[in-house]
Amino acid sequence: MDAKVDRPDNQDDETARTNGLWAATLDAASEGMLVTDHRGNIILVNRAYTEITGYRADEVIGMNPRVLRSGRHDEAFYDAMWSALRRDGRWQGEIWNKRRDGEIYPSWLSISSIKDTSGRITNFLGIFADISVIKQAQQQLAYLAHHDPLTGLPNRLMLMERLEHAIELARRAKSQFALMFIDLDDFKKINDSLGHDAGDALLRAVAGRMRDAVRAADTVARLGGDEFVVLLENIKGESEALCVAEKMLESVKASASMQGLSTSASIGIATFPGDGTDVAALMRNADSAMYRSKQAGRNRATAYHASFNASTCHRLELEDALRRALELEQFSLVYQPQYELSSGRITGVEALLRWQHPKLGNIAPAQFVPPAEESGDLSEIGRWVLNTACAEAMSWRRQELFDGRLAVNISIRQLECSEFVQTVKDALAGSGLPAGCLQLEITESVLLRTTGQLTKVLSALHALGVSLAVDDFGSGYSSLYHLKNLPVSTLKIDTAFVQNLPASENDKAIVRAILALGENLDLSIVAEGIENEDQRSLLINEGCRFGQGFHLYQPVTTDQLRVALAR
Ligand code: C2E
Ligand code: MG
Ligand code: MG
Repeated sequence: MDAKVDRPDNQDDETARTNGLWAATLDAASEGMLVTDHRGNIILVNRAYTEITGYRADEVIGMNPRVLRSGRHDEAFYDAMWSALRRDGRWQGEIWNKRRDGEIYPSWLSISSIKDTSGRITNFLGIFADISVIKQAQQQLAYLAHHDPLTGLPNRLMLMERLEHAIELARRAKSQFALMFIDLDDFKKINDSLGHDAGDALLRAVAGRMRDAVRAADTVARLGGDEFVVLLENIKGESEALCVAEKMLESVKASASMQGLSTSASIGIATFPGDGTDVAALMRNADSAMYRSKQAGRNRATAYHASFNASTCHRLELEDALRRALELEQFSLVYQPQYELSSGRITGVEALLRWQHPKLGNIAPAQFVPPAEESGDLSEIGRWVLNTACAEAMSWRRQELFDGRLAVNISIRQLECSEFVQTVKDALAGSGLPAGCLQLEITESVLLRTTGQLTKVLSALHALGVSLAVDDFGSGYSSLYHLKNLPVSTLKIDTAFVQNLPASENDKAIVRAILALGENLDLSIVAEGIENEDQRSLLINEGCRFGQGFHLYQPVTTDQLRVALAR
């Protein structure tokens, strides 16, 4: 071929190639593109435009981009867009458009004006991306940030937002609302003994039932763990909240029993504006009311009262101090003799835990044992009690001061721990105390909860030669069935029935009944809390053989006990 002839054709080719490249580029772009004339009528669209909007080029050429309008934006929106375009030559923003099939979608649009050499607008170029996927991800993130993944309930963040909102509304409308703290009782036990899957299943079931038990406008949130919070908007008063709380207690019990569990809940209620006018005060007061429910025996709801506050501060301080008490060696044991009523001869001693805190002073077991049970700290403390008591009892034996029984109090939480039997074995082996000299005191409520696991532990202890006593007998709901079927050897009559002897006929009858029960089931009976001679002689007359109480013996330190034993 001749190069001279070819040159002009080459130039045309070049232009054609460039145009082709442009067309290919536009079509390869993943953003939708459109070009309009200066009046805004479409003259060109690319392939992505068709893919995103659903409109073919031939359907929209000559039309105004208005066909895409979703109706979600008002005229002011478009006016602002056009005035920015005229002023700056460009506009960028998020815009909701409508696809050909009617679906509305979010897009990120940037429009630029194209001017000729004299500065007159000849065209507009619009480039847009479909951002529905990004939007969905954003929504997903916002959802995750505001919800608890396990139950799907609102989480703490969302609860806080709703609570702020509720305060604002109630302030304006001069109305009331209630904040309810719900904490499952013994949830840790379920997690520990049945596994986290069972725990999770219970939480989900409880969440669903509680959600169903309130109005749609109310909020049921999960703060984490086994803590739920309910926000009851626009209530008439506290009694309405207490009514809902009853439903919540039922919901928890029903969900648990579906899983063969017998879990209950403790509830605390704070009402706006009476019990607090800001988020912090309402949260704090609902929490301290909830704690009251725990203290009062769980499975109940308590409405806040101003007198609770001081005790809340105290409790938080207490829990913190409790965590470190063992390593700081703040615990000690005292021993209270058990004796033969007729002679006063010491037949055994009961170890009682004492906590001496440098700032908080002497703290009674009734105050720190329940929170230590709840937090799980009691296992370690209980192990220390067993080891110490066994070692000290063995030292009295070695000195031939004592050949009676050592009684140690055990909480149900310790019994439920799988290593408990091993802990007892270790304490006996470590000290050399014969198993027959150790008695474990369990509270009456243990008899009610004898699940297979518990029965196994009690039988294993019995097999070791360790004896079992039921403490505070008569105060709970005694289950004779379990009493007969468990390896129990001793019943301790609760102080409450001894206190009002000999005056109270009723208590006399109860004591008589317990003694008869002991006779029939071949159990030995110890009367607790004997404070005077009248009580002692009445008990002797009724046929009770053993007792314990301030009348003859106060709880004393190991050194003091040595002196008493030596006499
Ligand atoms: P408990 O096992 O029924 O212990 C008897 C409680 O009655 C002791 O109170 C004792 O000091 C008190 N007491 C003794 N004689 C009399 C009396 O004549 N009159 C009156 N009113 N009270 C008397 P304490 O030491 O405050 O212990 C309270 C409870 O704390 C115990 O009741 C027991 O359930 C629990 N506890 C004590 N030590 C331990 C421990 O090491 N582990 C566990 N899990 N619980 C413990
Ligand atoms: Mg006891
Ligand atoms: Mg007792």
